[in-house]
Amino acid sequence: MGNASSHSIKGTGVVAGVAYAPAVWVRPRPDLPTVGTPVGEDQREAEFERFTEAALTVAGRLETRAAGAEGNAAEVLTATAGMVKDRGWHKAVRKNINSGNNAEYAVVGATDKFVAMFEAAGGIMAERTTDLKDVRDRVIAQLRGEPEPGLPTVTGEAVLLADDLAPADTATLDTAHIKALVTELGGPTSHTAIIARQLDIPCIVAVGAELRSIEAGTQVFLDGSLGTVTLNADESEARQAVAEYREFAAKVAQWTGPAQTKDGHRFQLLANVADGNAARVAADTEAEGIGLYRTEMSFLSATEEPTVDEQARIYGKVFAAFPESKVVVRTLDAGSDKPISYATMESEENPALGVRGLRIARDNESLLTRQLDAIAQAAAERSDDAATWVMAPMVATPSEAKWFARLCRERNLTAGAMIEVPAAALMADTIMPHLDFVSIGTNDLTQYTMAADRLSPQLAYLTDPWQPAVLRLIQHTCVVGRDHNVPVGVCGEAAADPMLAGVLVGLGVNSLSCAATAIAGVGAQLAELTREDCEKIADLAVSAESAAEAREAVRDYISALA
Ligand code: PEP
Ligand code: MG
Repeated sequence: MGNASSHSIKGTGVVAGVAYAPAVWVRPRPDLPTVGTPVGEDQREAEFERFTEAALTVAGRLETRAAGAEGNAAEVLTATAGMVKDRGWHKAVRKNINSGNNAEYAVVGATDKFVAMFEAAGGIMAERTTDLKDVRDRVIAQLRGEPEPGLPTVTGEAVLLADDLAPADTATLDTAHIKALVTELGGPTSHTAIIARQLDIPCIVAVGAELRSIEAGTQVFLDGSLGTVTLNADESEARQAVAEYREFAAKVAQWTGPAQTKDGHRFQLLANVADGNAARVAADTEAEGIGLYRTEMSFLSATEEPTVDEQARIYGKVFAAFPESKVVVRTLDAGSDKPISYATMESEENPALGVRGLRIARDNESLLTRQLDAIAQAAAERSDDAATWVMAPMVATPSEAKWFARLCRERNLTAGAMIEVPAAALMADTIMPHLDFVSIGTNDLTQYTMAADRLSPQLAYLTDPWQPAVLRLIQHTCVVGRDHNVPVGVCGEAAADPMLAGVLVGLGVNSLSCAATAIAGVGAQLAELTREDCEKIADLAVSAESAAEAREAVRDYISALA
């Protein structure tokens, strides 16, 4: 949006698309009291009642919003309302009030206690601290008679700016008005990013403190694929870009399979799912099957390992959504950010580099073989034409691949491995001979290649799947796959980015697996590119010096085609 006075602020784009509208800020969080106001003994019962009343009001408001929402939004709102009413939290508040503090200060203390507990537990528990703080802020605002923090009421179109969005806010965003999201914090896998992907609105995260320099009402141009927010953009160029984007969005809405390039080169377009419900949602899209079934997601809160029969029933629900199609089941990827009480080690210094994924089974092979038995049992109920492929997470060496493949083949299962550890990509020529297929997990492959925690908002610029270093490992894997006649898929978030999907096909990937909501965008983008275009953009991306340069070069190439 070249213009002498224009100025761009950069973050990490997580959902592609453009928007041009005035900025609005999410209503600020209340200032938290740092000292308590003493409450006399005879006032404490009334003070606790004042708290309960405020909590119930907040919970009631959330429940009303839940009743008017659907699906995931309703679930998030109901869960947040549940947290406001949580008995453990109320007990902690009461204890603080009983020791002489006023309700506002008692709420802060009780929340801090839970936040510390959740942070110590790590993984997804730690990510839930945003929800806890959100609940705290809403109740404190209510206690003070201030407006509830969170989303403003917007009448026209707007780009929503926030430090980070609370689940309860993102769940009820009205996309008729809110055209894009930008956050100071967050990362590509943060809650904000996930919801933006579901709502399919352009989104940029991890912009940093510079975002705060944008005042409400300022007209901004946002480009979700470049990750830029531009102030003083050239108005006619910005409006033109929005019109082109809307034209592409219309193509996405109309796109139907099969997935192929403009000149008819076929590739498989598959869905990532976590359970039977998600598989049914995916079955309503043009997905040809499932490319990643994350089995561990069903067991995050299980305290005991489910029996083989119980597991087979759970897996069967996913198979039932795609009775005739390929389903790639990933064995338990427990550990790191997905702790499972019956499978993972109690505490490790560095869980992302620890005993996670397939590594758990080295000292506990029967945990893996019971899961494989359950997968085989459920697969036996499928039609003869339906392919059931099984892959292991976190394979790092040829001997791990060989061992896993043997266990699969003893059960007549097609054996594969995820390529998400750089060592596995580099050793692909020695790993692939043991396997029937591989699938590249770009989320972890990026994390480990760049030595950057995928959950860290400060490192989002490194954990970007456009990093040329990651693309070079993918390129190498594809070359080896072709030599060994082993199909290579991609099932990380990279496959959900339409332009990057073009790069991946150009690199020689045979199948792409992404969130159900991203399927049509990827299919529609690839339908606009020939195989030669894909190869050209792959060259551009691989030879770029940075993720931003790769993205920009590919974008310029694709825009010039229009
Ligand atoms: C990946 O690492 O890219 C992947 C698909 O697995 P997960 O995101 O579940 O770690
Ligand atoms: Mg992974």
